[in-house]
Amino acid sequence: MKLTLPKWYDLHTHLRQDGLVGPIIQSQLDMGCCGILAMPNTKPPVAKVFKDDPLEYWCIEGYLDLIKREGGDAFDDVIVPLYLTKDTTPQMIEEGAKSSLLRACKYYPPHGTTGADFGYPFANYFDNGVFEALQDNNVVLCIHGEQHAMKGEEYFAQDSNAEDVFYREQMPKLVEAFPNLKVACEHVTTRTAVKFVQSCGDNVAASITPQHLLYTVGDLLMGLKYHLFCLPLVKFAEDRDALRAAATGAGNTKFYAGTDSAAHTVKATDCGCAAGCFTGGIAPQLYAQGFEEAGLDLSQDDAQAAFKRFLCENGPNFYDLPVSEETFTLEKTPQDVELIETSVGPITPLPLGLGHNSIPWSYND
Ligand SMILES: [Zn+2]
Repeated sequence: MKLTLPKWYDLHTHLRQDGLVGPIIQSQLDMGCCGILAMPNTKPPVAKVFKDDPLEYWCIEGYLDLIKREGGDAFDDVIVPLYLTKDTTPQMIEEGAKSSLLRACKYYPPHGTTGADFGYPFANYFDNGVFEALQDNNVVLCIHGEQHAMKGEEYFAQDSNAEDVFYREQMPKLVEAFPNLKVACEHVTTRTAVKFVQSCGDNVAASITPQHLLYTVGDLLMGLKYHLFCLPLVKFAEDRDALRAAATGAGNTKFYAGTDSAAHTVKATDCGCAAGCFTGGIAPQLYAQGFEEAGLDLSQDDAQAAFKRFLCENGPNFYDLPVSEETFTLEKTPQDVELIETSVGPITPLPLGLGHNSIPWSYND
């Protein structure tokens, strides 16, 4: 069985910095990406737009230069969202949008995930004019939707968790206050988030990662497979069912591919574990596997159409990007998965970290 598809946009990935950027860009090109949205949680974060801004952050202009130098000029398009901090102003948004360097912003809950130390509470942006400026300038707001500063017992409980709380308590306020704001609900993991996105208009869409389509928290806990530790955490089977139904549904126009692929050369440390699963080079193969595990027969036309919408069409439609005219092919024959060597150490792709050195689908140019 073979699927020939338009090249696709990975609309949530991490290119990191230093010696990792080049190999990670290569891993994105190696899986048919024609474009990417590269996250700004570097050190320092990408939290200003222009080089001549005196704030002591990295700037979108400079990070885009680095990406191009490291092989990113092979992409049709690269979007770097601005990391929202206490220093973000409506004026920054307006000037950035006018220059066309600023096309998206990223909200991180304070200290909520890897590199989120500069996040500023969500409610503050309602009052300081930043969300309004995004809405007025047609800049997409990318959301890491988890409540911050929760006690452990609330953070991950049987019937609720940080993402549930955020989508129940914060997100309805956002869409009510800014009804025309374009909102990308990134890496959704719960039934609650899926229902919220479905209840909104076309200006609210959501990305789903391969790991959240494939696995549950049980897969993480059995043997403590820490390579599956990412934020938001993988959840329960009912949540995964909701994600699978949303991604594979015949009427799906809102849910799209965004891998959140995040490379770590050191994943487990003495006192914890870095969050993020690396799926560079193999994400379309893993998404195809997820669609099959959701019960779709990818030899059938309607299932192929649903897969193409999810991987190649809904994301670019939401971000006003053209669907690529170049193609790549996936084939249902096993592909070996290997460590990726870099100058700063090896990166472990997720399947290897789960003990699988081969995956059911392979990639062909
Ligand atoms: Zn991410």
